[in-house]
Amino acid sequence: MKPITEYYSEEQAVTMVGKGWEPLVRRVYNAKAGMGLIVGIIGVKERYGVLRIYTDFYDKNLEDVIIEVGYESETICPQCGNPSTIMELSSGMYVNACPECKKHILEEMFKD
Ligand SMILES: [Zn+2]
Repeated sequence: MKPITEYYSEEQAVTMVGKGWEPLVRRVYNAKAGMGLIVGIIGVKERYGVLRIYTDFYDKNLEDVIIEVGYESETICPQCGNPSTIMELSSGMYVNACPECKKHILEEMFKD
């Protein structure tokens, strides 16, 4: 049977989101290692402009770190790490970007 869960190593996890969020993802892995936890990371993604990290096991202390980086991610551009804001492009579609990256994203979306 194929396993339902996919586990991410730290190096795989940082490639799931933009470079700007790499330090946030690494902080979660460092915290996990520091706590000596055998918790699997099964999801790393941007959802509604926010960094979401999913685990296969609930640990309160690790969850606190995950929530903390989630909040921080709201004001960090995933592309480049500069200060950013989350903007709603259309109903239910959010983009988190700094002014510079936002310009590129909008140019990409509305070209032609
Ligand atoms: Zn940016």
